[in-house]
Amino acid sequence: MGSCQQLSFSHKRLEGKVAIITGGASGIGERAVRLFWSHGAKVIIADIQDALGQAICDQLKDPQHVAYVHCDVSEEEDVRKAVDLAVEKFGRLDIMYNNAGVIDLAGTTSILTLEKEVLERTLRVNLVGAFLGTKHAARVMVPLRIKGCILFTGSATASIACMTEHAYVASKRGILGLAQNVAAELGRYGIRVNCVSPYAVATNITKAAGVVTDDEAAELESFMSDAGNLKGAVLKPEDVARAALFLASDEAGYVSGLNLVVDGGFSISNPSVTMKLSQLDE
Ligand code: NAD
Repeated sequence: MGSCQQLSFSHKRLEGKVAIITGGASGIGERAVRLFWSHGAKVIIADIQDALGQAICDQLKDPQHVAYVHCDVSEEEDVRKAVDLAVEKFGRLDIMYNNAGVIDLAGTTSILTLEKEVLERTLRVNLVGAFLGTKHAARVMVPLRIKGCILFTGSATASIACMTEHAYVASKRGILGLAQNVAAELGRYGIRVNCVSPYAVATNITKAAGVVTDDEAAELESFMSDAGNLKGAVLKPEDVARAALFLASDEAGYVSGLNLVVDGGFSISNPSVTMKLSQLDE
């Protein structure tokens, strides 16, 4: 058999796998829930927005494959219970997607005014939450010899400076460090650990930046698209979910320690010289 035939993958890319998606009630997490489920995964939505999380389950009408659990990712007992629920209900855990995140409404982009409490609140959800999800996923994957996958939603802000507030950036850079260090530790068990790092997407988290109405969301998309490197494209939650699907699937079977930046090349481009040169031409 040729190598191309050996590499044929199922249309349903997560058939038989069990996933927990934190922050799965809204935005990128919600898209990932629907996409992973449509690719055959059994999914546990772990979030603090109980009504929204339950509404997704009710809409999918597939209790054998989708369940909601209240889980504040900053509380170790909640995370422990969510992971145990996956094993009790679905028999295993293959994919832990640490996606829940916040930007603190009281945040500021100036280090002169950033309050310690804001930094701590942000780290508690974004970084401590990701750490707890990782720790408890490994707690079940290692003894069950599951060659699982641990994923994080990082941010393009971890690859470029000055895009948003310090507390958020510190939390996302922390996630990247954690992901890569854990990838180095868990490789010996066949567990892959990767990060998806998006550019700005209009979701509920952008309400922290004052984007509340649909018009404001469209304005943000248009602004970020103009500021972006890849012209004629707008980043949507679905695009980020698709990158997560790739990393969660067997197609990424030898991919570990990667920070998959979904930003249309924004973080590797620096238009300042080009702009200066075009000013000289004027
Ligand atoms: P969102 O607000 O729509 O989703 C975040 C989800 O996390 C919500 O469902 C929320 O209830 C949940 N959550 C918040 N605190 C939690 C907690 N303590 N425990 C459990 N769940 C909690 O926003 P989103 O854009 O979909 O955010 C998802 C991830 O993407 C976040 O980690 C965010 O930092 C990251 N991200 C977003 C953008 C963007 O521009 N939207 C860009 C880069 C990275």
